Amino acid sequence: MTVVGRYAPSPTGRLHLGNARTALLAWLQVRAARGRFVLRVEDLDPQRSRPEHEARQLDELRWLGLDWDEGPDVGGPNGPYRQSERGEVYAAALARLDTFACTCTRKELREVASAPHGADPIYPGTCRVAPSHPGRPAALRWRVPPGEVCFDDGIAGRWCQDVAAEVGEFVLRRADGAWAYQLAVVVDDAAMGVTHVLRGADLIDSTPRQILLARSLGLTAPSFAHAPLILGADGNKLNKRHGAPDLSALRAAGVDPRRVVAALARSAGLLNPADQHEHVAPHELIASFDLRQVGRDPGPLVELTPLA
Ligand code: GLU
Ligand code: ZN
Repeated sequence: MTVVGRYAPSPTGRLHLGNARTALLAWLQVRAARGRFVLRVEDLDPQRSRPEHEARQLDELRWLGLDWDEGPDVGGPNGPYRQSERGEVYAAALARLDTFACTCTRKELREVASAPHGADPIYPGTCRVAPSHPGRPAALRWRVPPGEVCFDDGIAGRWCQDVAAEVGEFVLRRADGAWAYQLAVVVDDAAMGVTHVLRGADLIDSTPRQILLARSLGLTAPSFAHAPLILGADGNKLNKRHGAPDLSALRAAGVDPRRVVAALARSAGLLNPADQHEHVAPHELIASFDLRQVGRDPGPLVELTPLA
């Protein structure tokens, strides 16, 4: 069986070192298995996605030494490779799922349901029988089948969630017509023949939703590995406020991309700590790549910041 993996950036900003490390790991998993690597642009959010971000992200991934066999710039048999151009595929999938129209606003939902800070509240079922405000534009929610979904993550181990109880009926198409990430990613991974998903740990709690959707659509779900995120010193997800340089800044500063790759590889556990290699090209890591070396703990940011 050919291993097919992908990197699926959202063109909403610049790639930082955390994105780069995830991309490197996904690429290595595929190249080590002599598989096919797909680059898919997840530009579902029309407000935040920009073609110039896409161009810059692809350019910088190449600068790092990564390449892909299919993607928006190189083509391939399973395109288009931009989600903004795949609406018909999502509509066909949606038509096969049992959904209902929901006219609740985010604010209304926050008021009825309590939710952990930042997370979407569990949908309280307001519009299950009929939309609460028939005049409003409606989102479409999926009637999630009951029961626990479990999977064995290649890095994080066994993971289970009762989607109906812990997430509730989630949105597949927003009231403004935008497709939900959860639906698009499932449909696209299947359409593009993806067998192995390696992505950031922030998406692990979306995985049971995606497995359930794949099952309901009669699609084979890929296997999953969720790599730890690089965290800032405050323990939060890496972002601009941490002063962590994005790839553009490193490139503009004249940093050798092989230094960036060496630091990323070391922080992911791919290089022996005693190995003093300061410069490594991605292809030099293929022969020894072993996903089991990647730990569950995020690598320290401190090793990466002196790059700038
Ligand atoms: N587009 C998502 C992101 O940039 C990744 C989705 C995925 O890998 O499933 O965070
Ligand atoms: Zn509702």
